[in-house]
Amino acid sequence: MNYSVDADGYYGDYGGAFIPEMLFPNVDELKTKYREIIERSAFQKEFHHLLKHYVGRPTPLYHARRLSEKIGANIYLKREDLCHTGAHKINNTIGQILLAKHMGKSRIIAETGAGQHGVATAAVCALMGMECVVFMGAVDIKRQAPNVARMKMLGAQVQPATCGSQTLKDATNEAIRDWINHPQETHYIIGSVVGPHPYPDMVSLFQSVISQEVKNQLKSIEGREQPDYLIACVGGGSNAAGLFYHYLNNLEVGIYCVEAAGHGIETDQSAATTKLGKPGIIHGCKTLLMQNTDGQIQEPHSISAGLDYPGIGPLFAHLSDTQRATFRAVKDQDAMRWGLELSKLEGIIPAIETAHALALLETETFKTDDVIVLGCSGRGDKDLETYINYFGL
Ligand SMILES: *Cc1c(COP(=O)(O)O)cnc(C)c1O
Repeated sequence: MNYSVDADGYYGDYGGAFIPEMLFPNVDELKTKYREIIERSAFQKEFHHLLKHYVGRPTPLYHARRLSEKIGANIYLKREDLCHTGAHKINNTIGQILLAKHMGKSRIIAETGAGQHGVATAAVCALMGMECVVFMGAVDIKRQAPNVARMKMLGAQVQPATCGSQTLKDATNEAIRDWINHPQETHYIIGSVVGPHPYPDMVSLFQSVISQEVKNQLKSIEGREQPDYLIACVGGGSNAAGLFYHYLNNLEVGIYCVEAAGHGIETDQSAATTKLGKPGIIHGCKTLLMQNTDGQIQEPHSISAGLDYPGIGPLFAHLSDTQRATFRAVKDQDAMRWGLELSKLEGIIPAIETAHALALLETETFKTDDVIVLGCSGRGDKDLETYINYFGL
């Protein structure tokens, strides 16, 4: 089994680049240059310098003592919530802004749902003095006001997407349209391991710093590089791809992917793509996709904006088909309960996305000496209002 992308941009049956003709030159330029540019020593030096001094890496691998006692296993949290701007997203935006600079681009566009990727993009554009336009659904602009304000403070222009459901997929359509109209000077920073080849591979590469660090940290804490299990939440799959990257071909490491069940996979209010999706094409990529019988995209639902996407990265469609990873779906109510649980047990308020991964711990059986690494993808600051309303705080 091979879990790396092939020369045509496929993971098994999934991936590829299904793009309008007008975008071909942009995507082709990226495809031919990205590996070579990323491997240059000047690129690597600047990337790792910024990860250390700007993002704050390496992030801690924290042994959660009280959580471990409650579950009856050795649980480590990989603290991506401590990254600058509050989540793992910045690992990728740092990488892509450097790539854009090396390709001579002067203008950056991005799409965002909850605003986390938009904020991480706006921050690195400020850092590099580049023009930044972030497309965001008009509905999301209303419900994510603090992140809209952050993007504006960071100098980005926030462009409302007013078509369709006025959420993430519509913002993505607008970003693609803009890219078609400004092919020369613009680089499009996609925020997860989705989109046409080479984005899924490129974003995985930038996020792979997470599992590189876990290997080194586990070695010094536990005396071995490999855990028994890895657990991460999956929206598009970028934090999970980063956490799994260096372990995918090591079959001794068990892998859990946690999707958002929303109100439940038996309802029409869910975002559990591997449970409910069928093969289809979304945003330039062949993957599993929630769709109705006419092949129209089914609106997803999750209480966490970061998991509220009707598709999944092609790597994850492949991990699901090959059963290399075990996929579970966690409901809104269980994720919310675990958001509160981690806060009280460890003094860490997690993002609601992350709380989905935590909720898996009580549904699986582990041995007391199992070593488990759970991706703590982000902090809960952005979700305070949701927590307040849900628990009546
Ligand atoms: C965006 C986000 C996610 C989901 O995106 P992936 O690409 O699946 O990682 C998960 N957690 C947090 C905190 C996020 O901001």
